[in-house]
Amino acid sequence: MISISVRGLTKTFGEVKALDDLSLDIEPGELFFLLGPSGCGKTTLLRSMAGFYTPDAGRIFFGREEVTRVPAHKRNTGMMFQSYALWPHLTVEKNVAFGLEERKVSRREIRRRVREALESVRMDEYAARKPNQLSGGQQQRVALARALVIRPQCLFLDEPLSNLDAKLRLEMRGEIRRICKEFELTAVYVTHDQKEALAMSDRLAVLDSGKLLQVGTPWEIYRRPASETVAHFIGETNFVEGVIMRSGAGMASVDTALGEFQGVCSNGNGDQAEGTKVLLSIRPESWRLDRFRDETNSIPGKIRKTVYLGEISQHEFESGESTLKVFELNPRFLGDVAGQEFYASVDPEDVVVLGRPPDSAGPGS
Ligand code: ATP
Repeated sequence: MISISVRGLTKTFGEVKALDDLSLDIEPGELFFLLGPSGCGKTTLLRSMAGFYTPDAGRIFFGREEVTRVPAHKRNTGMMFQSYALWPHLTVEKNVAFGLEERKVSRREIRRRVREALESVRMDEYAARKPNQLSGGQQQRVALARALVIRPQCLFLDEPLSNLDAKLRLEMRGEIRRICKEFELTAVYVTHDQKEALAMSDRLAVLDSGKLLQVGTPWEIYRRPASETVAHFIGETNFVEGVIMRSGAGMASVDTALGEFQGVCSNGNGDQAEGTKVLLSIRPESWRLDRFRDETNSIPGKIRKTVYLGEISQHEFESGESTLKVFELNPRFLGDVAGQEFYASVDPEDVVVLGRPPDSAGPGS
C-alpha cells in the first residue's frame, strides 16, 4: 500500500486557476473522496494525480517516489470513469485482458489474472459476452475488473456510478469499497453525490476554487464543519448569527436574536473573545419539537408549513423573525398543529459555532 502526497499543486487553464497551491496527504490503503461545487477543481486534481495533466507548479509523490512528470501509463494506476469506455466489439474477457496484452504479459498469466479480476467483481460467468449484452451495472463491474487486472497500487475513480440507476448505485457503493479494501488499494474518488461520499469514504476533502477547505472523516465534515462554506455545501443546515458571550474548553455561549445558545466551537479551542461575531450551524434533524421548554437551547415558535414524507416531516418553524428548517423523524406533529405553540430544542453538541469573516454581513444577505 502506498500513500499519495500532493505539495503546492497549481494548474491553470487560460485565466482559470483550477488548482491553487493545493497540498494534501492521502494515507496508504485509504478510500479518499474529493467533493465540492461544480468547477472547484476535483477532476483536475484527480487527473493530475493519475498523470493526465502536468501541473504548472508543485509536486506529486506516490510513497517516496516523485511522479509529477511520470506519464500516466507508467504510474501503475487504475482508472475508472463515468462512461465505461469498454470496446464494443470485444468480449468481457478480451476487454479486461487488453491492458495486459499491451504490457506483454504471457498468455497463461493473462488468462489467470483476467479470471481472478472477473471473479473479484463477480462477473466470471459473463466472460464471453459483449458489452451491449450487459446491464449498466455489469458494464461498470467489467470496467472495474479492467482497472484491477493490472494490479495497480492506486485506483482513481471519476464519478463511476453516475450513469447507474439509484438501486444499482447503492449496490455498487458497497462493491467498490469491498474491492478497494480487498486489493489494499489507495483510492481517490470524485463525486457530486454527498451521500455516496459520506457512506463510502474513510476521509474526504471539500474543495472550492482550487483550494482545500477541509479534510476529515465523514463524521468530522458533517458534524464539525470548519467553515460556513463547508457547512452549507454538505447537507442542509440553519445558520444563526450571534456574538460570543463566554467561551472555554471548546464550548461557547452565544447571544442570538433567538436567545442564548450553547455550542461547540468549530476550531476546537474555544478561546474566542467575548463580543466576537460568529455564526451557528444547526442541522434540521438535530432539533427536537415538544410542548415543553428544555433547559438549554430551547426556542418557542410555531410550525408554519410541513412537508410530510412518511418517515420524516420537514417543518418550517417560525420563531420571532426567523424561520428554521426542522426535520422530525417518525413524525408526530402533522397538519393539525398550525398556530399552536411549540418549543424547538437542540443539544449543545449539535450546535457548531463557526467563525465569521470580519466583513461578512451574514448568510442570505
Ligand atoms: P465538475 O464537478 O463540474 O466536474 P470539477 O470540480 O471537477 O467540476 P474541474 O473539471 O477540475 O472541476 O475544473 C476546474 C476549473 O478548470 C473549471 O473552471 C473548469 O472550467 C476549468 N477547466 C478544467 N479543464 C479545463 C480545460 N481542459 N480547459 C479549460 N478549462 C478547464
